[in-house]
Amino acid sequence: MGFAVFLDRDGVINIDSPDYIKSENEFHFIPGSTDAIALLTEAGCDVFVITNQSAVGRGMITKGELDIIFAKMKEGVTRAGGRINDIFYCPHTPDDACLCRKPLPGMIFQAVEKHGINLSFSVMVGDSVKDIECARKAGCAAAVLVLTGNGQKSMTALEKKGTPPDMMAADLMEAAQWIIAHLPDLSNMSYQSCVSDEFTMSEQFNVSNQLSASKRSNPSCLSKVPDISKLSGQDFQSR
Ligand SMILES: [Mg+2]
Repeated sequence: MGFAVFLDRDGVINIDSPDYIKSENEFHFIPGSTDAIALLTEAGCDVFVITNQSAVGRGMITKGELDIIFAKMKEGVTRAGGRINDIFYCPHTPDDACLCRKPLPGMIFQAVEKHGINLSFSVMVGDSVKDIECARKAGCAAAVLVLTGNGQKSMTALEKKGTPPDMMAADLMEAAQWIIAHLPDLSNMSYQSCVSDEFTMSEQFNVSNQLSASKRSNPSCLSKVPDISKLSGQDFQSR
């Protein structure tokens, strides 16, 4: 398994809409996003889309229609020379109190279970506070906020909360370039033994049985991460 990059969909890969993306005709790539995914693929990263799609639970779109939109997304990425390894989506509404809707890390844990991902070698890229919080709760090595979609608003909210992302990027292309430039640092970071946020969260949300034994025996600890931002000239503090 290579380095895993988790991508939010709406506002990161495609243009978001307050009215939800309900058909393939409403799905439009953000310029450069497919090339960015191609860059990640070429660099040997495994790309996973992790997306809340409550429009399904709200009855605004069927799972079949969502699959058609996903097919259009994958086709566009493939045409650019990239690859989306897998897609995980949460169809629930906030009222469903599920374990998969971001900011909860359930979808990332599903990806870990299915693909044997080591979260110490992973990054999450999103445009929402929920994405950054999901990355923290899961135990990803870094969380990147893009300023497309809701990114600007999210940046303000994260600043206010005192929980900035490790990196702020103009768009997915800049995020991809940053990830690739820092792959050696992100991959070689040594993690001290600790009680993992990820482990605690997985127990709390009763999804630990979905995690592989190897995953559990190799917990990552987010508190070891902050050095990453110091490695970048484009990190949050400097912008
Ligand atoms: Mg989004």
